[in-house]
Amino acid sequence: MKRTNLLGLDLQGLEAFFVELDEKAFRARQLLQWIHQYRVVDFAEMTNLSKTLRQKLLDTAEVSPPEVQHEYISKDGTRKWIIKLSCGNSIETVFIPEDGRGTLCVSSQVGCALACTFCSTAQQGFNRNLTASEIIGQVWLANEALGKDPKGNRVVTNVVMMGMGEPLANYKNVIAAMKLMRDDLAYGISWRRVTLSTSGMVPMIDKLREDCHVSLAVSLHAANDKLRSEIIPLNDKYPIKELLAACKRYVDGHQRRHITIEYVLLDGINDSAQDAKDLVRILKGLPSKINLIPFNPFPGTDYRCSSRNVIMRFKQQLIDAGLVATIRKTRGDDIVAACGQLAGEVQDKTRRTQRLKQQEEVA
Ligand code: SAH
Repeated sequence: MKRTNLLGLDLQGLEAFFVELDEKAFRARQLLQWIHQYRVVDFAEMTNLSKTLRQKLLDTAEVSPPEVQHEYISKDGTRKWIIKLSCGNSIETVFIPEDGRGTLCVSSQVGCALACTFCSTAQQGFNRNLTASEIIGQVWLANEALGKDPKGNRVVTNVVMMGMGEPLANYKNVIAAMKLMRDDLAYGISWRRVTLSTSGMVPMIDKLREDCHVSLAVSLHAANDKLRSEIIPLNDKYPIKELLAACKRYVDGHQRRHITIEYVLLDGINDSAQDAKDLVRILKGLPSKINLIPFNPFPGTDYRCSSRNVIMRFKQQLIDAGLVATIRKTRGDDIVAACGQLAGEVQDKTRRTQRLKQQEEVA
């Protein structure tokens, strides 16, 4: 019999599990604390459970965190963990320390199916969705490695769903994991401190608003549909107008809420004065902050990062038009941990990479 991995069950899931075992639902709360706060994985050590219950758990369940294959530490303090999955593939998780906070960048899929042309993960193709255990397992691991600061506060204070994969394409498991991030019996990170980044799956943005109103970041990267469809094929399905309307619905009725608009600066592609002007125009009326991301190169890409001058000018143009714009600091590039560089090791089940290679060979 396959044992249930309790690591990925949120409160509701654990309650259902105990009811199934013919046990009281409140046991779920005890288990959450043991697993996520104390990081105890051995049922025998869970001393406030009866002996019979511990035995029942041993027979039916396990707490099985992911396995770290390698840890890299950057000279700027950024850490990257390569996590080996049971299927033989690996994924990556990155911790970024900053003044007064520590942000964990979490992966949601093995590879990615969306094929954005400027992203290294996309070049790997897609294998499968991560389970809820594998997603929250990354938060578990980081807490295990980093623990608390001298004041007794957790070192991981923020989570960004910005690692490998499109989180809204693995909706159910991402939601269960984010509920665990939020739960005070687990990690107690408020919704505002959890940011989900999406390339723009419109129907799922609406669902997210109902289920887990976390901070939302949207990978816009272009201000017109022609260019956006070229670099983000998903734009054909959900064009800019529909995407921005969904963003508006996401923040509507919530004061002080905004959408983070991500915009990767690609030399000669989307970084002209006209692009900045178009961006200002289409963002009118949407409470937003623009995060400009200097392009991070990876092997095999023809894209180049815009020059420092162009980036500064682009930013200033947005600011002069009354928008809030910041430049994302590149962190951990000496350990290949920067945005869009996370690749892990993915066997492409869709064989898209292979097909592309063959096409190239023929051409
Ligand atoms: N699939 C989600 C999550 C990825 S988040 C999404 O598309 O939003 C990572 C962010 O880094 C996204 O905004 C993504 O577009 C951006 N990115 C991807 N490749 C990049 C690269 N090579 N350099 C800089 N940013 C990149």
